[in-house]
Formats: sequence, structure tokens, C-alpha cells
Amino acid sequence: IKGQYGKYFAPYDDTLRNRLLKEQAITDIMESALAKEQFQIYLQPKYRIEDEKLVGAEALVRWIHPEWGFQSPAEFIPLFEKNGFITKLDQYVWDKTCAAIREWEDEGLAPISVSVNVSRADIYNADLADILIRIVQKHNLSPTHLHLEITESAYTENPTQIIDTVRKLRDLGFIIEMDDFGSGYSSLNMLNEMPIDILKLDMKFIQSETAKQNSRGILQFIIALARWLHLSVVAEGVETQEQFDRLKEIGCDYVQGYYFAKPMPCHEFKKLLAKEGDA
Ligand code: C2E
Ligand code: CA
Ligand code: CA
Ligand code: CA
Repeated sequence: IKGQYGKYFAPYDDTLRNRLLKEQAITDIMESALAKEQFQIYLQPKYRIEDEKLVGAEALVRWIHPEWGFQSPAEFIPLFEKNGFITKLDQYVWDKTCAAIREWEDEGLAPISVSVNVSRADIYNADLADILIRIVQKHNLSPTHLHLEITESAYTENPTQIIDTVRKLRDLGFIIEMDDFGSGYSSLNMLNEMPIDILKLDMKFIQSETAKQNSRGILQFIIALARWLHLSVVAEGVETQEQFDRLKEIGCDYVQGYYFAKPMPCHEFKKLLAKEGDA
């Protein structure tokens, strides 16, 4: 059966006109897709390098459209950042994430925190802190259950406003992670003033790392810098044993990547968590 929008745009045609048609089609249905629970939370496990213990997860949104199938976040997130819908979708993700943590705690599974993505658009929402606090309280959790991932490039757009907002969130007890660190332009000088707890290395570092001797030196330098600033370091996009060994050798703290596990539905993550508790 052809979908309602099938007659307007061709799924595999990447011309500008077709892309604009698809963006319009997505914009038309995003609200109802949310109401119909087509957006789902996937969790990607995060491990401590030292003992390879499961210590957390990152919540990543998935959109499974009944006719178009799986839609990549790389496609719809930038659109939702443009049209403002990301604010609503992110709140949905935070709420579902907290509901999952509540469920695990109620069932006596190991207490764990989960990282959620906070879009740059959310940061400019004056009610952000109130919204986040309301969500954690609704599920009877504390802010420390949530790590807030904010991409490096958001910090550089409007440093003073971002720093104020992020400091407020951190003072409330949320753990702050700088996502995609090294992809953008944050100067080392600024890093010292950032109210953050964790650096999350951009995955391009890890993935070019085995190829280029150069980036190995850079990674070592970043980890030394993080130590000096009392930040922990998460590496994501870890796909091979070789990459893992290298990260362990240079003293990185946590890893996330296909080498350990892909993002998975909440019920699968829960099984993993239960198994971890037995170990
Ligand atoms: P990100 O926050 O940097 O997330 C990491 C991306 O890397 C995820 O892609 C994840 O599935 C993928 N990944 C994990 N391990 C590996 C690996 O070993 N190798 C490779 N090649 N990739 C790996 P995903 O889920 O497609 O998300 C893409 C981006 O979309 C995210 O990048 C994030 O910026 C955004 N995003 C996803 N979910 C949300 C959300 O709920 N809210 C907001 N605001 N943004 C989101
Ligand atoms: Ca992230
Ligand atoms: Ca990232
Ligand atoms: Ca184990």
C-alpha cells in the first residue's frame, strides 16, 4: 500500500525538491507520530573501561514510521531543530527515560544513570531547568540519574548564555557531558570555565585513531587535560578490540560503541542490566 505521502515524494530521490517535499511531509505528521508513539527510546550501554562493568546508557530516539520504515535521526533531528519540534520530542525522550529508570529501580535492578541528549534549541528555553526538574520528580528520581549531553558546538555559539544555563542545571545536580568534544571550536581556554563533568570524545577521533598515529598523540593529550580539569572521559564509536585496547592504555574512563553493544530497545537493556546484577 502506498502511503499518503508516497505520491508527493520519492523515497530514494535525493534532489533538493524531493528533500523539501519530504521535510514538509515530516513536518505535517510529526505531532501525530508522537501521539501515536511512533518515536521510541533506544538505549546504548556504556561501560567502565577499567573492569568492563555496565555503568549506564545513552538514550537515542528512533522513529519507526509504519509506511516509510526506520527513519534516521541524522535526517529528522536537524529538521526538528529547525522547526522547533525538537523541544517537544526531547521532553518526551527525557520522560520515557526517567520512566524506564524508575521501573528498573522498582524491580531492584542495579541503580544506574542514563545520558540524554539536550538539543541546542532546548538550551534557549527559559523553562528548561523547571521542565527537567519536574520530569525527574514526577518519577521520584534525583537529577543525578540524568546526564545531560550538550554538543560542543552549542557552547561556542553563545558562550555566556549557555554557561549560565548549564551552570544552573549542574547546581541542581544534573551531570553535564560535553558531547562531540573535539569536533568543534571550543578553545582550551574556555574549557576551564565550562561547568561540565564529563568530556565525550567525538567519534571521528576514535575511528581515525587506528589509522593516524597523529590522533593518538592528540587523544593522550586530551585525556591528560581532562585529568588536570578533573573531568572524566567517555569514548564513543568504539568498534574494535584494537580501539578499546588503545583507549584503555591511554587511560580513558568509559566506552560506548558497537564493539560492546548497539543501541537497543528498553526491554533488552533491562535484561542486560539484570544479568549484570547477577554477575
Ligand atoms: P550522538 O549524540 O553523537 O550519538 C551517537 C551516534 O553514534 C548515535 O547515532 C549512535 O547510534 C551512533 N553509534 C553508537 N555506537 C557507534 C559505533 O560504534 N559506530 C558508529 N559508526 N556509530 C555508533 P544515532 O542514534 O543515529 O543518532 C545520531 C544523532 O542524532 C546523535 O548523535 C544526536 O546528535 C542526535 N540524536 C539522537 N537521539 C536524539 C534525541 O533524543 N534528542 C536529540 N536532541 N538528539 C538526538
Ligand atoms: Ca549524544
Ligand atoms: Ca556524540
Ligand atoms: Ca559483567
